[in-house]
Amino acid sequence: MAGAREPMSAIIRPGRCRSTRALTCTAGLRPTAKGSAVTPTSAAPTLRERDNSMAREKRDEALLSTLGAEHAEWRPVLALVNAALHEMERAVWADSVPAREHSAATGEPLLSGTTIRIAPGPVHRWVHRAMTIAGTGASATPFADALAGGTLDPMALFEAAVAEDPDRLDDLARAAGDNRGVLRVVGPIVAMPMLHACRKAWTPLVSAAWAEGYCPICGGWPALAEARGLDGQRRLRCGRCGGDWRTEWLRCPFCGERDHEHLGSLVSQGPGQRTPEQQTVDVCERCRHYVKAVTTLAPMRPEDVVLQDLATLVLDVVALERGYRRPAAKERPVEVIATPSRLRALFRLRQRATGRKP
Ligand SMILES: [Zn+2]
Ligand SMILES: [Zn+2]
Repeated sequence: MAGAREPMSAIIRPGRCRSTRALTCTAGLRPTAKGSAVTPTSAAPTLRERDNSMAREKRDEALLSTLGAEHAEWRPVLALVNAALHEMERAVWADSVPAREHSAATGEPLLSGTTIRIAPGPVHRWVHRAMTIAGTGASATPFADALAGGTLDPMALFEAAVAEDPDRLDDLARAAGDNRGVLRVVGPIVAMPMLHACRKAWTPLVSAAWAEGYCPICGGWPALAEARGLDGQRRLRCGRCGGDWRTEWLRCPFCGERDHEHLGSLVSQGPGQRTPEQQTVDVCERCRHYVKAVTTLAPMRPEDVVLQDLATLVLDVVALERGYRRPAAKERPVEVIATPSRLRALFRLRQRATGRKP
């Protein structure tokens, strides 16, 4: 976090230096990975993980309150993320994860082509809650009225959000009377509980050979790259589902560029070895996209990826100022169908009768 507020100080490129004023320029590329372990590290939660959920919650809340204190303008988004982190604890999402059997070695994310059968009640409740929080502080939000009046279908919003389909989200927003792009911000957070449940269930199915730049679970572009551990593996992390997959050092996740002349980094600290907490922006001259990169000793918790993405916003500003951009949602959204399940609805009622948290 402290590093995130420091001014960017150098551009490191192989063989040539293109630096801004008063920069120290160092030849050399991104550090190369010494190891090649490919075991997914965000497997289904263990008992110990569940036991530690209270400690996790405290860490999340500490990070959320720090971000809220530093950036008052983010508080509505942080409140929404906080609600999503709590929502994930509900059993309904894990219970609604579609069964998958095969590994994602073919370039298709595991979410692709699935049908999510889920009781409408929990989806409606969560969408209402998310839109209520999103509307807090706004002088007028049309979404509460649209939900109440039936012009915004919570299940359609849920499906478009899970599929990461910005066009459908825009259509839904327009039908609800909004043209401020609210659903593009709220949609990914609405999708988080379902997508994290999928990631927990499917991580063991992800092929170690997955070589795409997008998430093998949900198809999202990486929010962050992690230079992890003493052997410096490069891992991509998905902000939508918390997914975690290995990648090569010299490869643009977005266009696959491998030519080191076209790949570089904007670094937040002086040249030299990466240190823990060091943050950089890895850029590609071919597609002009960037991914923020952080150095970590241990894997970032899946639930923390979205928070770290927010906490490193200054890196986005630096990249945008230099003409790089994040890629749009993939041109071909993941095909996913969310359908109400009456059986699940009945099952929920029975669970409620027995006192289990739905
Ligand atoms: Zn993902
Ligand atoms: Zn590229």
